Amino acid sequence: MDNILLIIQNFDVAIKFIADEYPIVLFILYFAFAASIGSFLGCCYYRIPRKMSLINPKRSFCPNCKTELTFFDLVPIFSYTFLRAKCRHCGIKIAPTYFIIEILTVVFMFLLLYLFL
Ligand SMILES: [Zn+2]
Repeated sequence: MDNILLIIQNFDVAIKFIADEYPIVLFILYFAFAASIGSFLGCCYYRIPRKMSLINPKRSFCPNCKTELTFFDLVPIFSYTFLRAKCRHCGIKIAPTYFIIEILTVVFMFLLLYLFL
């Protein structure tokens, strides 16, 4: 418990140290966080109009062959690029909407950070 308190108390010092010494680490963490939020927004974009649950099924799936996507198919931005916008299982073309939502979220959150920090 003391260690956790110590970490929380020194969190700002640790972040400042990382920002000064290894800014690329902060950028990668930020990028992963923002892209993940973008991925979730893409999930909302697909499921909410179809009146589907956001938590069930837990994993995203191909709308054509209904195959649950694996971890490697779900890395925001990169999976779309590496799979060349096609489902790994059935080969149907994936709409660019999800990729665009992920990119826009990363850019929008970066602008928010830039403007307010
Ligand atoms: Zn498929």
